[in-house]
Amino acid sequence: QAQRTKRVAVVTGGGAGIGQGYALRLARDGHTVAVADLGPADATEKLIREAGGEVFSARCDVSDPDSVTGFAAAVTDRFGHVDILVHNAGIYPIVPFEETDWATWRRIMDINLDSVFHLTKAFLPGMRQHGWGRIVVMASATFHSGPPGMVAYTASKGGVIGFVRTLAAEVGAHGVTVNAIAPGLVRTPGTLSGPQQELGLFDALLATQAIKRTGVPEDLMGTVSFLTSDEAAFMTGQTLVVDGGFARA
Ligand code: NAD
Repeated sequence: QAQRTKRVAVVTGGGAGIGQGYALRLARDGHTVAVADLGPADATEKLIREAGGEVFSARCDVSDPDSVTGFAAAVTDRFGHVDILVHNAGIYPIVPFEETDWATWRRIMDINLDSVFHLTKAFLPGMRQHGWGRIVVMASATFHSGPPGMVAYTASKGGVIGFVRTLAAEVGAHGVTVNAIAPGLVRTPGTLSGPQQELGLFDALLATQAIKRTGVPEDLMGTVSFLTSDEAAFMTGQTLVVDGGFARA
């Protein structure tokens, strides 16, 4: 088994849900982890410290360029350059297109897509300079299935898939890979407090899924660990669908 090199990883939205799982897994893989979240990341910090890992967190709104600049300065002051960037922060309101106003559309694009621009601008130069980098972006299997009520969301995740395909071509020669993970419905604080339960989505999806249980954050950890490893060096521009076989893309 390959020995892991200790690296510096940034996880956005690492205060809860899938991002918290990613932050803990990357710390367990031996990396120093910096968490950017709009909310508190105390619980994530505690989990990582208990696991013997090194962690830093700061409040950051990934949709706000100034907030991202401040976060990036704090991280680079502390740890130097960043090797691994996991764009995980995102929102997924369920609202029919005809009831989606411009402000809602913009908010979804700002948080899910424009944030990927801001964070990558901040951390890609360091990766290129050091000749090694791993960028992972959260897409969604909704891009493959196109469920109603998620036009803006699915458009934002489609944007992310376009982003990884094309940035991969620009940075491949510099040791940087860029990939996306597309989960199906996963039990997280976000989905458990949203309309997903009331709409019966957890049960409805099982009829089509090959694997007859709802996804949990742990189901995504092997994928993020692999994509951020040295062993994934020859894989880039891809979107890995991890959804229990719902969308067989
Ligand atoms: P969640 O709502 O449970 O947690 C999201 C975290 O991101 C929270 O800690 C929140 O504070 C943070 N966050 C939200 N907006 C932010 C902002 N502007 N700046 C910084 N941090 C912010 O979410 P989750 O279910 O864990 O989803 C995480 C990612 O996975 C999202 O990109 C989502 O689109 C994607 N995804 C989730 C599912 C699912 O079923 N849960 C499925 C497919 C894709």
